[in-house]
Amino acid sequence: MQLYPLFADLSDRPVLVVGGGDVAARKTSMLLKAGAKITVGAPVLGPQLREWVQQGRIAYLPGAYQSAWLDGVWLVIAATRSRPLNARIAAEGHALQRWVNVVDDPALSSFQVPALIDRSPLLVAISSGGAAPMLARRLRERIESLLDPALGSLLQLAQRYRSRIRARYADLGVRRRFYDWLHDDIVLASLRASQPARAEQQLVAALDDYQEPKQQGSVVLVGAGPGDPGLLTLRALRALNEADVILHDALISEEILDLARRDATRISVGKRGGGTHTPQPSIHALLLEHAKAGRRVVRLKGGDPFVFGRGGEELEFLRTHGIAYEVVPGITAAVACAAYTGVPLTHRDHAHSVRLVTAHCQHSVDDLDWAELAREKQTLAIYMGVGQLEKLTQQLIAHGRRAATPFVLVENGSLPQQRTLTGTLGELPTLAARHAIGAPAMLILGEVAAHAEVAHWYGELLSNPSHQAIPAPRHLADAA
Ligand code: SAH
Repeated sequence: MQLYPLFADLSDRPVLVVGGGDVAARKTSMLLKAGAKITVGAPVLGPQLREWVQQGRIAYLPGAYQSAWLDGVWLVIAATRSRPLNARIAAEGHALQRWVNVVDDPALSSFQVPALIDRSPLLVAISSGGAAPMLARRLRERIESLLDPALGSLLQLAQRYRSRIRARYADLGVRRRFYDWLHDDIVLASLRASQPARAEQQLVAALDDYQEPKQQGSVVLVGAGPGDPGLLTLRALRALNEADVILHDALISEEILDLARRDATRISVGKRGGGTHTPQPSIHALLLEHAKAGRRVVRLKGGDPFVFGRGGEELEFLRTHGIAYEVVPGITAAVACAAYTGVPLTHRDHAHSVRLVTAHCQHSVDDLDWAELAREKQTLAIYMGVGQLEKLTQQLIAHGRRAATPFVLVENGSLPQQRTLTGTLGELPTLAARHAIGAPAMLILGEVAAHAEVAHWYGELLSNPSHQAIPAPRHLADAA
């Protein structure tokens, strides 16, 4: 081990920062958080440091560095642009047994400032021993994304009840299980849901109750987005990391499932192509069974759980059975497909609203309000529509939507095999059949769809002879 890790209590201890630029300001900002008594010495100060001096938060020694600045300080940070000056500060500081950090110069430093993840009072510090600070920073980002933002509040709560917890759970093994429960169960979930009072009540109840708190199962409905793992939210990633059981739609990719905890049980539900289909009541039964057994269940769905995902029914079921739940939104297919083809769903001139429509079977297509859907100046995003293109087209045109209205049909949106077909409503069924577009595909219809012609940037754009005939939106044409 090259370096000895330590966390220093700097509150009200004098610290010297030499340098007045941005780097000095950055270092000062962290020292301020730690409550140090900071003096900054430099001929001139940048705006941020100047502001802190004016606010009385730091002291200022104007002018060139002097050895006397080192008197009485515990730590020194040398952040000047001159290496010889930094070296002199380090040498003089070390002669007086001060701890000195020269920014980005491990050879001159006697201590280094780690990359930090701050969930105060929890701190995670990472050091590469000066070998590769960039890599340490990358690692920091990874860990940052895995640690729940609510951890800080949990630790503060635990800190306040520490002696009561210790008294109540005197046995070390039992106490450890209590802390596991605190971290893994309803208390952290309440903090995450921004309900600190409820979290505290739950903790107090667990202290009053004379049994060891039992792990209570829970279900998180998680939207996995349209397929590209990069479109998962950090919250979704954390839920996947904590899950004991994952009930996922068949369409969820291996790449996304691989982000889950290694030892989590994965159960595929829902249908893929013509394969088997788990009926909704069986999914409900599975959710209940695993949650009742005290497990943390993730119900992972494509896109967003509340957009044509039956998430509402699952939530209702969980609620009536008293199972704790959370919902993590996902990027829904319409939003993703629009982004991945360069199509803005709304537009000041061409589209004042967006409608998310499902057309999954003959029956649902017959039930749609065609007069409403055929209106101008709106964008339609049609889910599950590839089997019904003929009917959709007929109805829209019959109800007054122009045959020249542009569309974009996106197959496997956001996935490496994405294909994008563009054209006009009148030719939609023919073009889709010619290119054998299959599910999953998203149909976006409306003036905005013409943007795909020029703004498309991901995957394959299926060209067809009539492309040239499609007018680009006016402002784009003007720009060209
Ligand atoms: N809850 C999901 C929708 C489920 S319905 C969401 O919010 O996105 C399934 C339909 O979504 C598919 O038939 C298709 O129309 C659309 N869809 C889902 N993933 C898609 C993708 N990667 N590309 C294009 N369409 C997609």
